[in-house]
Amino acid sequence: MTQHAQLPELSPSTDSNLFAVAVEQLDIAANVIGLDDDMRRILSHCQRELTVNFPVEMDDGSVQVFTGYRVQHNASPGPTKGGIRYHESVDLSEIKALAMWMTWKCAVVGLPFGGAKGGVTVNPKQLSGNELQNLTRRFTTDISLLIGPHKDIPAPDVNTNSQIMAWVMDTYSMHVGYAAPAVVTGKPLVLGGSEGRTEATGRGCVFVIEAAARKLDLNLADSVTVVEGFGNAGSISAELMAELGSRVVAVSDSRGGIYNPAGLDLAAVEAHKARTGSVVEFAEADNISNAELLTLPCDVLIPAAMEHQITAENAPCIKARLIAEAANGPTTPEADAILYDRGVFVLPDILANAGGVTVSYFEWVQALQAFPWTLIEVNQRLHKIMDHSFDAVYGTAERYGIHMRTAALVRAIERVAELTRLRGIYP
Ligand code: NAD
Repeated sequence: MTQHAQLPELSPSTDSNLFAVAVEQLDIAANVIGLDDDMRRILSHCQRELTVNFPVEMDDGSVQVFTGYRVQHNASPGPTKGGIRYHESVDLSEIKALAMWMTWKCAVVGLPFGGAKGGVTVNPKQLSGNELQNLTRRFTTDISLLIGPHKDIPAPDVNTNSQIMAWVMDTYSMHVGYAAPAVVTGKPLVLGGSEGRTEATGRGCVFVIEAAARKLDLNLADSVTVVEGFGNAGSISAELMAELGSRVVAVSDSRGGIYNPAGLDLAAVEAHKARTGSVVEFAEADNISNAELLTLPCDVLIPAAMEHQITAENAPCIKARLIAEAANGPTTPEADAILYDRGVFVLPDILANAGGVTVSYFEWVQALQAFPWTLIEVNQRLHKIMDHSFDAVYGTAERYGIHMRTAALVRAIERVAELTRLRGIYP
């Protein structure tokens, strides 16, 4: 499988041009299927982009104004779906790119959702619990123009969690006058959350790693895994890889990484992180930098932190055979080409981390029906969807002679273009 003929000249990527990267990726896949210019124009824009600047009263009585965004890329497939992140680096370009990727992600796994994303430019670690709740409720109020159970359904993302989703649900419910659990996913179980949602991204990622390993003849029970980012997606992926018998030798967080070539005791790492706030300084491992972590010898590398971690600089030194992108956008287009040249098999984000939105979809269905499923039902359905989606993307890659990222995009774009064409242009 080679595809370099399809790669255009790419400019160096930075966070501020993340949407340009997303559009470049769309163009690459659109070229493969000869997508017409009209459809390209439609799909390369976000349908709705809302910027909100809103005041929050802080604990000391002062008022701060925060900036947040809610972007819906394409509402043709159904209600839009996508997480809300709280991070200092959040900007409109990033949120637009993430919204577009959500459209493709939902389409890759066949969900009846379009893509959306939201975020607030804030370091939530500098806020008290009360300030975090005030910020969440006011942000929810300001984006309530767009969200709703049949319109746009937020979920957790970087630095947001089930408690924050409970506040989003409560705020929206107060506005409409009744409990509306289907307005948000990733809620606590007692509020209509789904069994298995917390683990879904990591679990889905490991399901596709297993599927890829079968194609690559890689015995996971005798493999070495490295995970960048030890938050929700990363820690669950690490634990499930360890359950399959893989030796997880390194993990990291924003403060740095830890490495023990004999394998990490992940339960002890979790406990250390709960106690100290970070994985670094774990007694039974050496501290390493995040840069060192990415180039460690291993079979499986799981980037599960932020965007643009694997770049043209470090891609030539990466030793993994298989990279599974639990994070969104961890690999720059330049790095992608280098990895591809070097024969590294990349499971792209829109496939590898689609387990999260898939179980979010299950949660939404359960909330609308007020009929909860068991954990076994959730995981079996997730497994089926991830296996089927992997096979479909792998088949597309073979059919067109392209790599997995472009294949996933091709599959997604074909689906969204077809339904957009069938719906036609209103009026
Ligand atoms: P999280 O906040 O739970 O965890 C993020 C982790 O990354 C933290 O441990 C943080 O310290 C670490 N980190 C931040 N910067 C880092 C750096 N430079 N180097 C190493 N580690 C760093 O977030 P999450 O929900 O696990 O999300 C992680 C990634 O997965 C994001 O890209 C997110 O968009 C993606 N994702 C998450 C879900 C989900 O359901 N949680 C679903 C799909 C995609």
